[in-house]
Amino acid sequence: GSSRDDSTVSKRVRVAVRLRPRNAEEMVADADFADCVELQPELKRLKLRKNNWDSDTYEFDEVLTEFASQKRVYEVVAKPVVESVLEGYNGTVMAYGQTGTGKTYTLGRLGEEDAADRGIMLRAMEDILAEISHENDLVSVSYLQLYMETIQDLLNPANDSISIVEDPKSGDVSLPGATLVEIRDHKSFKELLQLGEAHRFAANTKLNTESSRSHAILMVHIKRSVKGRNASLPSENGSMTLMGKTLKPPVVRKSKLVIVDLAGSERIDKSGSEGHTLEEAKSINLSLSALGKCINALAENSAHVPVRDSKLTRLLRDSFGGTARTSLVITIGPSPRHRGETSSTIMFGQRAM
Ligand code: ADP
Ligand code: MG
Repeated sequence: GSSRDDSTVSKRVRVAVRLRPRNAEEMVADADFADCVELQPELKRLKLRKNNWDSDTYEFDEVLTEFASQKRVYEVVAKPVVESVLEGYNGTVMAYGQTGTGKTYTLGRLGEEDAADRGIMLRAMEDILAEISHENDLVSVSYLQLYMETIQDLLNPANDSISIVEDPKSGDVSLPGATLVEIRDHKSFKELLQLGEAHRFAANTKLNTESSRSHAILMVHIKRSVKGRNASLPSENGSMTLMGKTLKPPVVRKSKLVIVDLAGSERIDKSGSEGHTLEEAKSINLSLSALGKCINALAENSAHVPVRDSKLTRLLRDSFGGTARTSLVITIGPSPRHRGETSSTIMFGQRAM
């Protein structure tokens, strides 16, 4: 990526790293070993251990330790993007990392047992619903899975004909076949996420694959009508009776928040793989590396963002560049046994800075 720029306001891509706490298995198996990383959140630094006496240091826009609450993660990673989406700009929040490091926990957690555990999807919708007015505005969502370059509709599994259509003039992306559900309250949104999750599980069981091998994509469309600012002013001669004629038609402002729970970034072991696994590996590598190239181009303020290389990046095209904001959270685990994967996740994040 480009050299570090502290004028974070103008940054098109912000990158946070989040460390998952040790799980029960790691507490035992890694009991005699230190974590592979050491975080210095105040300095926004992360040290990746090379051996007992040496480590490499990396800087990020935010460093979230294993003690960071879901609330704090939302505020740091997603809230600025949600706010700009409410102002009419497109935005993307993505989680990248090895399977088991907390991507779904960070984005999709429903907080059934403890509401404090709610992830970014639910918190974003809460903020959106609190801000919009149902009289003038419309919030609707699609929920998709992208597997092996095919798009599946998680809100209607029978629907297998979703294609990506790009408006040649505006560059706007639409998915004409995808189910779009209007959201009026928080409860129905949560139920929709649960339904999508159930469909995702069923689809993947049928395909004999795992959810870690596909990308889950939530698209939140917001349409707000902004009444002409002068609409309520009397005309120049002060006559109110002319108001009907001078009223400007409401301006509709459309924007989109896309939240992407990416496929696991780990290298899939090719030895002993069954049938389609190698194909899955190729497909994931293709889409994640295409994504990496696009994010690097954005981070470097390059005029050309190579979105053509994969369905994932074509789908995100209108969320990349221009006035759109992108927030990437890379998730890592503490285990020294996964140092290699952790290192490659950190490199992906660094290239996006
Ligand atoms: P991924 O989606 O990257 O494969 P998950 O989100 O499913 O990973 O997380 C793997 C496991 O670790 C889950 O049991 C999850 O509840 C737990 N976990 C992940 N992140 C955290 C965290 N920050 N705090 C506590 N538990 C976590
Ligand atoms: Mg997951």
